[in-house]
Parts: sequence; C-alpha cells; structure tokens
Amino acid sequence: MPEGHSVHRIARQFRVNFVGTSPEVTSPQGRFAQGAALLSGREMTDARAVGKQMFLEFAGDQWLRIHLGIYGAWDFAGDVRIDPSIQIHGQTPGHSKLGQTGENSGPGGAVDQDGEDSVTSIGAPRRARVRMAESDKAGEIDGSFPPEPVGQVRVRLLNESVCADLRGPTACEVLTPAEVDAVVHRLGPDPANADTPAERARFVERAGKKKTPIGLVLMDQSVVAGIGNVYRAEMLFRAGLNPHTPANTLDRTVLESLWDDWAALLDTGITVGQMITIDGLEGEAYQRALVERDERHWVYKLEGTPCKNCGTNIVLEEFGARKLYWCPSCQS
Ligand SMILES: [Zn+2]
Repeated sequence: MPEGHSVHRIARQFRVNFVGTSPEVTSPQGRFAQGAALLSGREMTDARAVGKQMFLEFAGDQWLRIHLGIYGAWDFAGDVRIDPSIQIHGQTPGHSKLGQTGENSGPGGAVDQDGEDSVTSIGAPRRARVRMAESDKAGEIDGSFPPEPVGQVRVRLLNESVCADLRGPTACEVLTPAEVDAVVHRLGPDPANADTPAERARFVERAGKKKTPIGLVLMDQSVVAGIGNVYRAEMLFRAGLNPHTPANTLDRTVLESLWDDWAALLDTGITVGQMITIDGLEGEAYQRALVERDERHWVYKLEGTPCKNCGTNIVLEEFGARKLYWCPSCQS
C-alpha cells in the first residue's frame, strides 16, 4: 500500500501538471461517471495530500477525494513535467528527459490524434509515461495522445498536454468543502504539511492517551497521518522501541522524537520516492538502496536474517492484522 510519501509525490505532480488548467474529466470504466461529469471542464485550483489521502480542488467548491488503498495507482502520460522537488530513479529529471516543456508543450504545441506530430517525429521531446504508486516507474510512450484507456480506469483527467488515469482506488468521490474539512479533521497531523511545534504537540497528545501498543498507534491515521507498514517497522527499530509498549507509558520526549523522525523520513521519502530508512548511505551503497529493498531497510521483510546492528535474527510477527518485523535485541 502506498504510504504518505507516495501520495505527497502524486499531489505535487498534479500541482505542476494540472493546477491552473481545466481538464476534461471522464470515467472510462463508468463507475465514476456522475462525479466526473460534475468536475469536467472546471479549473483545478489546488492539489494536496493529507496522510494517505489526496484532495484535488476544482472551481466552484468541488473537491475530488482519492484514497489509493492497496491496489490504486495513477498513470501520467503525455508531456509529463516532474515536480522539481522530487526525484525518479535517484535522479531529478526536472524538465530534461521526462519533463519536456519545450516546443512540444503548451497551447497549440502538441499532439495530434494520430501521434504524428512533427515535433515528436523529428526526435525532439518524447512523451513520457510515469506511474505513481507504491513504487514509481517512468518510461516513454509511443503512439497517440491521449493513450487509449487500458483496464479499469475509474477516472481520467485530460488537459492539453497531460493525461492522468486512476485505477483501483479504495475511495474516489466528489466532496463539498465541509465534507473535506470533516475528513481532514478526523486525520492526525501530517508533518509534510506542517512540521510545527503545535502539530508535534497534537501528535504527542493523541498518542500519549492511547493504552494500545505503540506499534499499533503509529498506524492509527487519526493519531498521525501517513505511516504505513514499512515506516512503522522502521521507525520503531530506529527508536529502539519494543512494538508492544503501551503508548501511554512512553515519555513525552520519546513521542516527540518519533514525530521528528517521521518528519525526516517522510521528507526523504517524498524527495527520493523510496522509503530509505538507513541514514548516511553514500555512493554505491546509496545506489543499491534505491533499487534493492533489503539494502534500504533495517528490519522490514528481513525476518530470519541477522540484524544489521546486533546480529540477532529479525523476527516476523502478526500484529494488528499486519506483518510486523523487528529486532528482539535492539528493541527489547
Ligand atoms: Zn538488533
């Protein structure tokens, strides 16, 4: 399941590719036809993420709420610009390889139905396809723009240069501003939106009241938004915390440190696109961490292998209906 960093990356992609345009909105699959008709042709005015949820604002007080759930993913195709604050495959594509904004973009610059646009055919900017989900993929597309919808596309947003297709979400609905406020109000703080003393205090207060184990509290989206199974396991290891410790027995300073660590890890995740939870990786080790999960984590999916810190075997435990990985020595 995509964790908070992925959703923030997707929101940034909407900001650079859609905000300020008035996309056509459709539901090729049909399940979202009514909602799509409500939004189509309206200007997109904002795109933001809170935890694992994304909210796209359209003119006229209409909001589209998306929760990707386990299977959801967005595919961007066309002259896809990459937000300059994020990397894909360890590089900052900006506007070079993937993010063409050259002759081929902008009003009148693009793209005919048959994909025989003279600009692309002489080898100037090629159209990109960028998949944004749990792990991002980038490549080039051939053929026409917009591409034919493939599979069960719940919603398609299409402007002059970019097409975004959503498949497999858990939630995709149109909300009023009041309904958006109600959803956001139920969510805990998200440090990618406001890493402030007040938000940290809100987390500490909510977590500190819970008698449930800290290993469950970190995944409770009403306490803190955006942490999933990977970050949960890694944060507990980094803090040296036994996952079964009741949250209300932890020192305030421990909870504050958890918040600070989450803010830092999330920031890295948003930039890099990978949940790198081992600090100080450089050179070859960093490159390996970008492509191999075992090289970037302390415990996640490393059960039965020696802890990178102490050599004790990492254990796997069913915990809150999810798999939890931890080191019984470092986290005793
Ligand atoms: Zn250990």
